[in-house]
This record gives sequence, C-alpha cells and structure tokens, in this order.
Amino acid sequence: MIRKPTETRISRIEPLARLPVFFGLKGRRVIIAGGSEAAGWKAELLAAAGARVSLYAPDASEELLSVLTGLNDTAIDHIREPWSINVFTGAALAILATENDAEAQAFRCAAIAAGVPCNVVDRPAFCDFSFGGIVNRSPLIIGISTDGAAPVFGQAIRAKIEAMLPQGLARWAEAAQTWRPAVQALKLSFQKRRSFWERFTTLALSRPNDLPRDDDRNSLLALSATEATLSERGSAVLVGAGPGDPELLTLKAVRALQSADIVLYDDLVSRAVLDFARREAKTMLVGKTGHGPSCKQEDINRLMVSFAQQGKRVIRLKSGDPMVFGRATEEIDACRAAGVAVEVIPGITTAQGVASRILRSLTHRAVARRLQFVTGHDTAGQLPPDIDWRSIADQSATTVIYMPARTIRALADAALVHGLPRETPAIAVYNATRADEEVIEGSIASLPDIMGTKERNGPVIVLIGRSMKGAGDDWAALMPQASEDAALSKQNTAIAGSA
Ligand code: SAH
Repeated sequence: MIRKPTETRISRIEPLARLPVFFGLKGRRVIIAGGSEAAGWKAELLAAAGARVSLYAPDASEELLSVLTGLNDTAIDHIREPWSINVFTGAALAILATENDAEAQAFRCAAIAAGVPCNVVDRPAFCDFSFGGIVNRSPLIIGISTDGAAPVFGQAIRAKIEAMLPQGLARWAEAAQTWRPAVQALKLSFQKRRSFWERFTTLALSRPNDLPRDDDRNSLLALSATEATLSERGSAVLVGAGPGDPELLTLKAVRALQSADIVLYDDLVSRAVLDFARREAKTMLVGKTGHGPSCKQEDINRLMVSFAQQGKRVIRLKSGDPMVFGRATEEIDACRAAGVAVEVIPGITTAQGVASRILRSLTHRAVARRLQFVTGHDTAGQLPPDIDWRSIADQSATTVIYMPARTIRALADAALVHGLPRETPAIAVYNATRADEEVIEGSIASLPDIMGTKERNGPVIVLIGRSMKGAGDDWAALMPQASEDAALSKQNTAIAGSA
C-alpha cells in the first residue's frame, strides 16, 4: 500500500502541574505582610528581583529585624502598620507570612478584589502562585517546582543543576543581552541570525568560565555576515534517532533537532525522541514499513530537497543509525544532485542498543571474531536470494538480522542446512530499549517456533552466535573446537600416562 507523506500534529507538551512564568519586577511595587523571619526572606528575594517592597509588619520579630539589618536594602520599606485593603493598589504581587487561617483568607480575598496575585507562605490553599527553587545565573534563571509534592526532592534537583551549570554562564547570558542590539543592527537574514546564536552557544558552552570578549563578538558577527549562501538555501541533515530510548541520542542529534524547521521521520522513530524537536518545527511522518503502508522513497527525496531549497533546515530522522539499512545513499545522492548541503549525524544502531540491554558483547576474542549485519528481507519483502550462507553458518561470527519478522524461519532452516549447529544461541529482541522491550532466548533451531507462539507488535531484531550464550551456558560446550582440543589433550595425557 502506498502512503503519502503526511504532516503530523504532535502535541508536544504533557499536562503541567504548574506554569513557570518569569515575572519582571524592576521598579514594581510588591507588598509583603507579616512579622516573621519568613517575611524577611521573601522581602530579600523580591528586592533582589528589582521590586520596591512595602513590608507591613507592626510587630516585627527579632529574627525579621535581624534579616532586615543584614540586608540594609533601600528597596525595602518597613512600614510599622498592619496591612489593610488599601495597600493592594498598584501592587504587582502580594505576599503574606502568617499562621492564622482567618488572616490568610482575608488577605487572599482582598488580593483577589484588587486583582493582585497572592501567595501565603507555605499555605498552598491560599496561593495563586508558589515560589520554586532557583538556580541563579542571571540573566539566565532556572526555576524548579515539584508542585509542593516533595520540597526536599526539589532541593536535591536544584543542587544537581547548580553543580552542572558553571557560574560563568551568567556572564555569557549577560553578553547575549548586550550584544543583541549589535546583531539586530546588522539586519541579517533569519538563518544567519540563528547561526550567529548557535555559534555563540557553542562558544559559551565550550568556555563557560572565560569572560566573553568583544573579539568573540566581532569574530562571531564576521562569520555570520560572510557565511556562504548555501545555508540560506537550507540544508538537510540525516539524523540517527537510535532504537528508541531518547537518552541514546547523541548531543549533536539533540542540537540538530532543536534547530529543525522540518522533521521528516520514520514509523520506527520513538515519540520520546520526536519530543526533542524544536516546538515550532513542522513534523511529517514519511514512514516505510516492511509489510504495511509505505511512502515512496522518491517522494521522501523530493520532499527533503524541496524544503531545503525553500531555505528550511530539514532533519531526516531515521531509526538507529542512518547508515545502517536506512537508504541513506539514495537520500544523500538526491541532495547532492540538487546542490543541497547534506550532513549525517550517526545514531546508535539497534544491534548496539540491544547488546547493551542484554549484556552480551557482539564480539568475543575466542568465539566471535567477526560481526555481520544482514537484512532479513529484500525490496520485495522476501528473504534475499543472494545471502552468503557460508558466512551465516560461520561459527566464529555473530550475525545480527535486521527486519527478520517474516523470514526468520526460512533463514534459520537455511542456516541449519548450511551447517550452523542447532544449539547455536539465538535471541530475538522486540522494541529494544523501549518501555515495552521483550527479549526471547532460544537456539537457532528453536527461536522461530518461540517467536511464532504469539503475535507481537513493534520492530524486532535477531542476534545469532556463540557470543549470545546465556549466563548459565557453558562456553566449552558452545566451542566445538575447544572441546575437541580438550578431548585430544585428555587422550594425550592418557597415552603419556600409560607409557
Ligand atoms: N537504521 C536502523 C535500521 C533500520 S531497518 C538501525 O540502525 O537500527 C529497520 C529494522 O531495524 C527493523 O525491522 C528492526 O529489525 C530493527 N529495529 C529498529 N528499531 C528497533 C527496535 N527498537 N527494536 C528492535 N528492532 C529494531
């Protein structure tokens, strides 16, 4: 069945317990009420964000007074009067620190009446918004919330992010702010502007603790201004999506996905990987399935080329590695013939993903000195007629069969006829590296029957060879050569003993 490439609307965002928003408070009035130390900490936080704080605390505690003295901050106006409904006028936010439910309720009602968002410290029932954990690399700011579920967990996450982000990033974020007008003044095209900020990001992340210099800015600007017009014409990047687990994506693949205009993806690309695409990118399913509906390769090539020629950054997202059973050559050739810049970003091929999941090495210095990837079906969906059966029957190889679903029985039968021992271990893995992964173990003789016992969905791969032995299997038994040698040496010892 022929399928037309279709645009897919993927809702990219899962439900959110809270919406993080970043309030601009410079010069805005914020009211805080309460005499406890907590009120003082909030006053300090809001003053740090540039707010003019009116702190209503007629009877400030010792602790609050000592916080305020420590601050010596002119942005905080300590008013020794209780709050009243009049104080909300013109306020951007209102915060109360109290243990008293009635006061909390009254404060919230007054805030609602005045249209001011309100927070009562540690009393979620009375809050419009909450304060999250903060990692401060201003103007780069990261907010963390667990929606009140587990503050300690939130703090641990904060500590992790703190450790991950060098302090120097603050200076790069600041440089971005100050350099922005100079970049805008150049009136570069959208692509060139984006390439400037991509280079900026690469530089910042590679030297986070160096001070950004004017030289850096000038050389980045010069590069973007003189950039070949090729990038103006768009480009195509074949990106390996790996077998499914998004954590197996390379950093390069993630970066490419985040700068995509168009993502053309296959059926086998997992949803979790697609989630990395830039939110504004157009996503299109151009899948080919072994036996189901398929898009024609020429249609896919034509789409890639025509989007790139419209100046778009096209990401051709393919399962596993693009260069392994991915028809990459045809796509690369089509781009080259049309003069479209093309690049390939490798991915983890399924065989590698599987080997790590089942903890079995694809090679072994004693029993598997050769590794071969073989396709289980040809262009017509049949077992390829030109399979080299001698190499499949080679006992010192590990053979990985891609696309084996329909032909595994015929393949196993032929391998046996060509001399592969019946007990050679064979493993099928469905949906490798995904949540619904299923591993089936057997021998080359038994695996087709075990696979046939029930209908399974999702892609499958088969690995055959002595390297695939199970934890309890005996190496010697799987090594005819070695067991013959052992028998021979026993015999020799017996002869020597009798002499
Ligand atoms: N380029 C891909 C292979 C594409 S051919 C790679 O490098 O892995 C498609 C075949 O890959 C499928 O029929 C199946 O045999 C295998 N495959 C892809 N993803 C898989 C997965 N998550 N689990 C098992 N097999 C997978």
